[in-house]
Amino acid sequence: MKIYNTLTKQIETFTPHKEGVVNLYTCGPTVYHFAHIGNLRCYIFEDILEKALTYVGYKVNRVMNITDVGHMTSDADEGEDKMLKGAKREHKTVYEIADFYTEAFFADTHKLNIKKPPVIEKASSHIDMYIKMIEKLLEDGFAYKEGGNVYFDISKAKDYYALSGMNTEDLMVGAREDVEEDAHKKNPYDFGLWFTVSKFENQAMQWDSPWGRGYPGWHIECSGIALTYLGEYLDIHCGGIDNIFPHHTNEIAQSEAFIGHPWCKYWMHSEHLNDQTGKMSKSNGEFLTLSVLEKKGFSPLVYRLFCLNSHYRKTLVFSYEAMEQTKNTYEKLLSKIDAVKKEAQGEVEEGILQKFQTAFKENLENDLNTASALTTLYDVLKAETTAATKIKLIEEFDTVLSLDLLKDKTTEITAELETYIKEQINLRTLAKQEKDFTKADAIREALLEKGIEIKDTREGTIFSLR
Ligand code: AMP
Ligand code: ZN
Repeated sequence: MKIYNTLTKQIETFTPHKEGVVNLYTCGPTVYHFAHIGNLRCYIFEDILEKALTYVGYKVNRVMNITDVGHMTSDADEGEDKMLKGAKREHKTVYEIADFYTEAFFADTHKLNIKKPPVIEKASSHIDMYIKMIEKLLEDGFAYKEGGNVYFDISKAKDYYALSGMNTEDLMVGAREDVEEDAHKKNPYDFGLWFTVSKFENQAMQWDSPWGRGYPGWHIECSGIALTYLGEYLDIHCGGIDNIFPHHTNEIAQSEAFIGHPWCKYWMHSEHLNDQTGKMSKSNGEFLTLSVLEKKGFSPLVYRLFCLNSHYRKTLVFSYEAMEQTKNTYEKLLSKIDAVKKEAQGEVEEGILQKFQTAFKENLENDLNTASALTTLYDVLKAETTAATKIKLIEEFDTVLSLDLLKDKTTEITAELETYIKEQINLRTLAKQEKDFTKADAIREALLEKGIEIKDTREGTIFSLR
């Protein structure tokens, strides 16, 4: 598999530390608000990466964190605590905010057919590990205490600028004037490992530490969680491009200082989703969520297809016209597949099967070229072969694409659907009691159109899939 490595700034042949196994760490959301569709683009990319690696034969160990503490609005150590900002906005505690938005995040990713990583860890659950790491960094001279806080000294890091490709001058030019500098830092780009609560406004998430009651910096969380669950050798670490600096740069500095050898070999970053005015961001106030798209009539999988149609390393510009086009494309694609399902199936033709499997795999192996992988799917639909061959290929491709390509309109009664059906049955019973048979029949018809059949029995009304 060939992938673009941000660390070396070139396309490289991927070779994991241990043959056949990929240790993959992906930064998770900061749960202070809903995810916007830009954030979700990044999680779709990581989902495709995990599934593509599995498709080409690797065993993937994936870990993701949930940032529920320590992330400041500036991404460096300045500005407001994002969680506290959410808590103030909604007059809730940071714990309530974290729980609510974590659930909302997984509801969104579920709708996008994003597989839940097997290990998902809250930043606030690993305080002991961060303390252990910080103690060692202090002992070995990589960190220093000042003003009640503990900072990482970037001048002690080996190749601090390797990932970002920046140099000290770039950093000075890029220095933000709108945030106050922390006078305790030796170098303005040193970063906080542990803050005592005196630095920021008091908030509910705080712990005792050898340096006083406080909380960890954002970057140490990902290093701590990755080292705990994936060991000292990470194969791939992902995030959005805005994570390259300072977040991932700082993760490398402190992890390598802690373990004493190179940590992660490949770094992959997805480009941003922009709207017509520029980068989509939560701090802009108004932002686009998956629910907004749904309310406008776009199913989450239309958005997934929209993302897969472009390369993860290219900026993607969102517009409703583009969504409208993708919706048409998706509907046409599903109806073509539907036609194949209705054909006489025949036998699977092995030679043709292999030809398309190889093409699909090669596209994924080419730095995750999902747009070309979709072209292979269209080539399958046009191919001179049996319907059985096509269906087998579509089924296989969909383990990666996850576009519900073969799903019938209603194939399973989810908890959500069940609640809806029961509501409709109650409304129908009520209508019948009021002798409004037109309404009762309309409800039955509407359910039937969705593929759900209802029957009145002595035990009451029952329902089933048609
Ligand atoms: P956050 O929840 O703010 O920590 O962001 C979650 C992920 O979304 C990070 O990996 C960011 O790099 C990524 N991200 C933020 N804004 C965008 C955007 N406009 N387009 C794509 N990804 C983004
Ligand atoms: Zn992270």
